[in-house]
Amino acid sequence: MRPLVAEIDLGALRHNYRLACECAPHSQSVAVIKADAYGHGAIECARALEGLAPAFAVASTEEALVLRHAGIQSPIVLLEGIFEVSELALVDEHRLWMAVHTDWQLDALLAFKPRQPIPVWLKVDSGMHRLGFSPPRAEQIWQTLSQAPQVTALHLMSHFATADAEDTDYLQYQMTMLQALAECLDAPMCLANSPATLAHPVAHGHWNRPGVMLYGSDPLEVANATSRQLAPVMTLRSEVIAIRELEAGEPVGYGGRWRAPGRAKVAVVAAGYGDGYDRHAIDGTPVLVNGQPARIAGKVSMDMLTVDVTHVPDTRIGSEVVLWGRAANGAVLPVDHVARYCDTISYTLLTGVLPRVPRRYHPCPPSSPTAM
Ligand SMILES: *Cc1c(COP(=O)(O)O)cnc(C)c1O
Repeated sequence: MRPLVAEIDLGALRHNYRLACECAPHSQSVAVIKADAYGHGAIECARALEGLAPAFAVASTEEALVLRHAGIQSPIVLLEGIFEVSELALVDEHRLWMAVHTDWQLDALLAFKPRQPIPVWLKVDSGMHRLGFSPPRAEQIWQTLSQAPQVTALHLMSHFATADAEDTDYLQYQMTMLQALAECLDAPMCLANSPATLAHPVAHGHWNRPGVMLYGSDPLEVANATSRQLAPVMTLRSEVIAIRELEAGEPVGYGGRWRAPGRAKVAVVAAGYGDGYDRHAIDGTPVLVNGQPARIAGKVSMDMLTVDVTHVPDTRIGSEVVLWGRAANGAVLPVDHVARYCDTISYTLLTGVLPRVPRRYHPCPPSSPTAM
């Protein structure tokens, strides 16, 4: 069978989740597993974290229902709330928690009669200017929601635009706004994404919302002592399926983008953009061949890519190629490094691995969920 697989290390996932908790000992951490757990498989990741994470977060009711149908009992937060009024019945039936970020969601909630009150995270726009109510409006709505029979466990929620950056001015600006609001409302808060969880204790609230760090990607512009301990969860692994010996000047692949600078050896690898490997990868993008550093040479094709292995000894047909993650010899190629060569971020590479690539889980996730 085709050798390309995405191996998912669920032990590393748990390790990274524990790191998120250790960074923020006074917060609870909701594990963000939207977008199929950033491409890692939401059901398997939820099962691996059940009993460790008190709640999960997803982007839609559809994503929450996938988890409920797999038997996941834990609270699940809808980070953007509902998209249609009719979803409120599902929120109620499946005991989901919901963000409320806009007027029609608020009106729909206040007109709804749930069987039990719904935990609500009221979203404030503190400067990201994407979702949420202005602080003065949030203050009014807070008063309404805190008296509403439909609502329980009301929290303030906000999101940072620059928590990953070394320059903390804008995060501090957002925090000033949020602290003023929290004080006047005596509101429990949920603010921190991965970079804020890792680097900004001032932003730690009753809840934090770490996402990408759980998968071992370091979101910080400048790594810190904790982010360096993150372990990769996904290893995208394939094999060499052919080897070419080239003379100086001979081109490789579509358009002949790369030419051998001298006598060269090029390995053809079973992985391409039809698997989600980024076609923007430039010549020089790192991979590991038999656990040794090597570089992409030539344009990525749909099912294959080519690697300069002139200086990698013992490269043969069948040699292990790691596109990101951990090689058999223990060498690690962080997905963040690969992303830089593709002019993107780890998030797009991880969520971009296509269904054609089989996921293989280690250790096997428990097949039946453990009840909380
Ligand atoms: C995706 C998301 C997160 C997680 O962000 P990371 O950068 O992956 O940690 C947190 N909060 C909200 C509202 C999100 O949409």
